[in-house]
Amino acid sequence: MAKAPTIGIVSLGCPKALVDSERILTRLRSEGYQLSGSYEGADLVVVNTCGFLDSAKAESLEAIGEALNENGKVIVTGCLGKEEELIRGAHPNVLAVTGPHQYEAVVSAVHAHLPPQHDPKLDLVPESGLRLTPRHYAYLKISEGCNNRCSFCIIPSIRGDLVSRPANAVLKEAESLVKAGVKEILVISQDTSAYGVDVKYAESKWKDRMVRAKFYDLAKELGELGVWVRLHYVYPYPHVDEVIPLMAEGKILPYLDIPFQHASPRLLRAMRRPANQDRTLERIAQWRSICPDLTIRSSFIVGFPGETEEEFETLLDFIEEAGIDRAGCFKYENVEGAASREIDDQIEQDVIDERYERFMETQTALAYARGDALVGATQTVIIDGFDENTRAYEGRTKADAPEIDGIVRVFGTGLLQPGDILDVRISAAEGHELTAEAA
Ligand code: SF4
Repeated sequence: MAKAPTIGIVSLGCPKALVDSERILTRLRSEGYQLSGSYEGADLVVVNTCGFLDSAKAESLEAIGEALNENGKVIVTGCLGKEEELIRGAHPNVLAVTGPHQYEAVVSAVHAHLPPQHDPKLDLVPESGLRLTPRHYAYLKISEGCNNRCSFCIIPSIRGDLVSRPANAVLKEAESLVKAGVKEILVISQDTSAYGVDVKYAESKWKDRMVRAKFYDLAKELGELGVWVRLHYVYPYPHVDEVIPLMAEGKILPYLDIPFQHASPRLLRAMRRPANQDRTLERIAQWRSICPDLTIRSSFIVGFPGETEEEFETLLDFIEEAGIDRAGCFKYENVEGAASREIDDQIEQDVIDERYERFMETQTALAYARGDALVGATQTVIIDGFDENTRAYEGRTKADAPEIDGIVRVFGTGLLQPGDILDVRISAAEGHELTAEAA
């Protein structure tokens, strides 16, 4: 039998892009393509690009160049695919360029340059599809695109307006992930709490009931699956308050990833942030009174045009006062096509760099204080794997999302598998890196 056509994939960018890559792979695998983890082993390479920031564009162009040098047959897709001229200008030899979430177009391009050899008896795809994340956790994308127009962001111009998936389709996917062994579901989209706005929260039939395509309803149903459910990219719209009791009841993880981006009301308006309001500190205090274990992760931009020293200090005060548990910081980048590029009063790069350093100092001090406060406490962790160097299992508490938050090194247990969940006692802490013994 002839060798099956083999595809390699290079996946850049955010978890949403990763989900796109998984869909492309699942589809190709179902058509009989084999997958290769190396350039040499592949007949053709798909590069799924990111075009969010200029630095991401440069990284994407570099990855395309590397794939061309190492393999020669390259199809480009993803966010940067919108800028075909830029790609073809840098790399005239790419076989095809398609845009974000154009699965059909990528697959057709692969068919054109590397025809499939399908054998339906052999090419079985697991019901849950193929995933690039470890087997015990998976990203669940509930919508594409975004209705907001934050002035620093070009995602809506790349990915279009919000398109929500029907609630029953999301729940069916979640259920098949759980059946396939997933123990933690990470809900993602550009704006998770806006889920369903575009379809007027349309109901769809799930099991014996109708479920609205609405943030709360979806969170409630996901909470019935018996696995960890973590919410990412949640904007603080008023209805976010409704999911806090679900967290307090242990239905979904007490974890909110809310990209606040800043704390100065004037700058938030200039950023055109959705749901920006002055009562944020008050609301966070109220959430914590309902769910004391709540972990808040957020990301912030420093050096947005016009940011004064005083406004920057407001931001530092905010992350302390709000007790932001995990804070990511981005230096403002003047992205081509973003409305904020037109704002006068761009901040000098050395000022941006200096503010970034100060932000990181404050956030590191907070992380260390938080870690120290956990010593002696019992925490529930999910195991991600075993580290040969430290001879410890590595896991995460409910407060830690994979890849972006902290880890726990667990000693003194019996044999564990990724996805196992157990209680441990924290014995030492260094910021977000904790050490623990089996409880
Ligand atoms: S909410 Fe704002 S930052 Fe996020 S994708 Fe939409 S426009 Fe961009």
